[in-house]
Amino acid sequence: MPILEPLFAAEAMQRRCDELARQIDETYGNETVVLIGVLKGSYQFLSDLSRRLHCGVEIDFVQLSSYGAEKSSSGVVQIRKDHDINIEGRHVLVVEDIVDTGLTLAHLCELLQTRRPASLRVVAMLSKPAARTHEALLDFVGFEIGNEFVVGYGLDHAESYRNLPYIAVLKD
Ligand code: 5GP
Repeated sequence: MPILEPLFAAEAMQRRCDELARQIDETYGNETVVLIGVLKGSYQFLSDLSRRLHCGVEIDFVQLSSYGAEKSSSGVVQIRKDHDINIEGRHVLVVEDIVDTGLTLAHLCELLQTRRPASLRVVAMLSKPAARTHEALLDFVGFEIGNEFVVGYGLDHAESYRNLPYIAVLKD
């Protein structure tokens, strides 16, 4: 049976969203920002973060190939769902759930840059700096964690646990 070891309580996630929203508001001021959430893992984070923002906000999503039921990346990134909003000349903030090797984010940012946004920034709920093999520039980070497999607050293992309001380490 898998064991869930709590890492960040629901309240800690909410408090961190408050702080990140303040930083993001300071960055964009009176500008409008297009939030591009990376499905499915960022859904809780994007929802909590976006409700705290006072700058203008538009919301869109992309979906990239995921780990499926595995706990490690296949190394291949594919776009399953593209964003709908035209981002040319717009301020774009990618909302990521977790940055591990950085492969997914590096690929996504490269693609988005070809669409000529006025600016492109990234907010990641979690980052695993020790796992990085690809350069991934993060403008805002919720929490840095070690090389552990985590679930909850949007993050899954084989589609389970996304609904948890807290983050836990999944142990076999
Ligand atoms: P990367 O391309 O940075 O190696 O992987 C990013 C993606 O891998 C994330 O968007 C997420 O879907 C998945 N991922 C990486 N680490 C974890 C983890 O600890 N837990 C879960 N649930 N997914 C992870």
